[in-house]
Amino acid sequence: MCGIFGIYDHPEASNHTYLGLYALQHRGQESAGIVSSDEKQLHHYRQMGLVSEVFSRDILRRLPGRSAIGHVRYSTTGSSELKNAQPFMVDYARGMMAIAHNGNLTNASLIRSELESRGSIFQSNMDTEVIVHLIARSKEKTFFERTVHALRQVEGAYSLLFLTEKEMVAARDPLGFRPLVLGSLKDSPVVASETCAFDLIGATFVRDIEPGEIVIIDSRGPRSVRIGPVAKPARCIFEYVYFARPDSSLWGRTCHTVRKQLGRQLAAEHPAKADVVVAVPDSGSSAALGFAEASGLPFEFAYIRNHYVGRTFIAPSQVDRDLKARVKLNVMPAVVKDKRVVIVDDSIIRGTTTIGRIAELKRAGAREVHMRVSCPPTRHPCFYGVDFPSPDQLIAARMSVGDIQRFLCADSLGYLSIEGLTAACGGGDGFCRACYDGVYPIPPEEPMAKECMERKPPPTAQAPPLPAGMDTKAAKRPRLKKAAVAAATPPLDHPEPEAAPAKPARRATRPAGPAGPAELF
Ligand code: SF4
Repeated sequence: MCGIFGIYDHPEASNHTYLGLYALQHRGQESAGIVSSDEKQLHHYRQMGLVSEVFSRDILRRLPGRSAIGHVRYSTTGSSELKNAQPFMVDYARGMMAIAHNGNLTNASLIRSELESRGSIFQSNMDTEVIVHLIARSKEKTFFERTVHALRQVEGAYSLLFLTEKEMVAARDPLGFRPLVLGSLKDSPVVASETCAFDLIGATFVRDIEPGEIVIIDSRGPRSVRIGPVAKPARCIFEYVYFARPDSSLWGRTCHTVRKQLGRQLAAEHPAKADVVVAVPDSGSSAALGFAEASGLPFEFAYIRNHYVGRTFIAPSQVDRDLKARVKLNVMPAVVKDKRVVIVDDSIIRGTTTIGRIAELKRAGAREVHMRVSCPPTRHPCFYGVDFPSPDQLIAARMSVGDIQRFLCADSLGYLSIEGLTAACGGGDGFCRACYDGVYPIPPEEPMAKECMERKPPPTAQAPPLPAGMDTKAAKRPRLKKAAVAAATPPLDHPEPEAAPAKPARRATRPAGPAGPAELF
């Protein structure tokens, strides 16, 4: 998971991008970067670390121009090192371009092998770099057309921002896994992963960028087209559970409100005879409030948080995670001593952090500890941008709920049902829930791991085995084949009609379909 932010035609472009990234820091803490455009060239700075550590006034002064994009990274494909920090910038035959990506491509490894066999040389081991190569190799006339051409070849999850000397482009994959919102700061268009970035800079929310939509923003203003079919979306439900900031409005709902409803639903499904409800801060807080409200129990702050330590789940290694978990929260015995305590958390991934939390509460004198989780057991890996790639690392993939309870030494354990989760998030079937039910909206082309883009032999003709834990039923589901995408893709509502792109032969027979969203402002 990562955070992206962009602003077009504003005198304080880099400063606002810095602030936007600051608001999105929860989405990635490994590296941060900004690319700005002064209309003649792009200027670039990226470094490992938090936004506040990476940028100083001096560095921001070295990022001139009226447009900029930025990125905070949490690695899902490609190792955690500087060469994989974003935005990724290149200087190629047709000018300069930079890209910032949130999500994970499911066919990047195969595309990369194909490109390498034709002579392409890669600088990083990120999936994102294949898009840059596809754009650079495209024969289309304009940057926008080349971007459309490239994105029709990739599959998986992407919310993207591109910057060239003259334009900014935002794009969201046809199933809309990751959020991407459009806003306005006076007359300057802004784009961000979450609305909390707009709040910090005083921008107003305009609308969600829709699944399959590409928005081009240049001197003629924003226009958009749709590249994918109008398909059932697969918005990541884990964004509501954990990732997005509680004050962000996500797909029409405030995350805090949704999380409170998750807590209420959890109380209905798994009530507990207890004296007090406490939360694992911060992401369990809203659900704990809802649980307390619905069960008529008092809510208390049992933990004091050290705000100078980052989120544990997205730290890149287990050693980091364990250490941060211990430093991060301190329990207050006065709140829990001799009490039956319900502790609410948003999820249990590996179980290593949770076992420590329960032990702390017992050491602090809690008589009973009842663990409640505001999502279903996480049993399956994610291929769309969240770093739980292997069932070996997921406690619920290896143990029954009863065994997990015993392992955690909890007096009871209750997970929210998948139906309860979906209902609390607004209902309908427009969500990806694959980490809970194993039904993958786009099965990956091969087993994916964080290191899948590292150097390896070219793929063989035989399909590799599916990862353990993946539902074979899901694997047999029809994939969102590129041909099918093309068949259902409406004609390009191109901003420069006189320069309509030459369509690839296999997509030449696309039927007419609804045009993408038109004017944005
Ligand atoms: Fe989100 Fe889970 Fe789907 Fe990944 S598998 S996109 S974490 S709901």
